[in-house]
Amino acid sequence: MIEQRIRNGAHFAFTDRWGGVSTAPYGELNLGGAVGDDPAAVRENRCLAAHGLGLDPADVVWMNQVHGAEVAVVAERQQPGEAPAVDAVVTDRPLALAVLTADCTPVLLADPVAGIVGAAHAGRPGLAAGVVPALVAAVLAQGASPERIVAAIGPAVCGRCYEVPAELRAEVTALVPAAYAQTSWGTPALDVPGGVAAQLAEAGITEVVRSSVCTLESADHFSYRREQRTGRLASYVWLGSELS
Ligand SMILES: [Zn+2]
Repeated sequence: MIEQRIRNGAHFAFTDRWGGVSTAPYGELNLGGAVGDDPAAVRENRCLAAHGLGLDPADVVWMNQVHGAEVAVVAERQQPGEAPAVDAVVTDRPLALAVLTADCTPVLLADPVAGIVGAAHAGRPGLAAGVVPALVAAVLAQGASPERIVAAIGPAVCGRCYEVPAELRAEVTALVPAAYAQTSWGTPALDVPGGVAAQLAEAGITEVVRSSVCTLESADHFSYRREQRTGRLASYVWLGSELS
């Protein structure tokens, strides 16, 4: 199953774990190619998800995410197996960008007027390394403008669930104060989606669609923290043709 949000011609979609062909522990709709699942099942799942969204699977751009802050500008369709080793991508072509996560925060940007979309994978290291400001800078460099950008923050582990050692919380919140959190059981935690939202606001991006899903709390979503060996969800952004 896939949740879709459309805002001003910007299309955002977030998968959950159901509706694919992978078997346990990746069942069912695992979209990640580097988690130990059968590659044929992942290919089939990527086709199923794309068709469910009305997209050509060949128009979807994937990343080999490495928890960094580098951004790749994508100018053409990706050949199978040639995903860039980055955590953020930007394009001005009619392509869909996809982020893979299982607790990390997917961040999507679109300027429908300029025809620019961007996507980033922001886990705790990416948040601290500044992958979100780097993504924003890259879409602005392509011609987007903050007041036209529509952003989306997809399903991720929430601040009430993401327990970390106190030193790690101190280290990350020295860089991103808004990520400060406490678990529902009273221990130090990080609110990565909250930190991402603050980084977007600092960049002047105020139109933000936020998923209400906490991946760790939702049995319908993959969660690395809950399951370790598990699949990956995908979050997609693309521009609709109704604008043209
Ligand atoms: Zn939670």
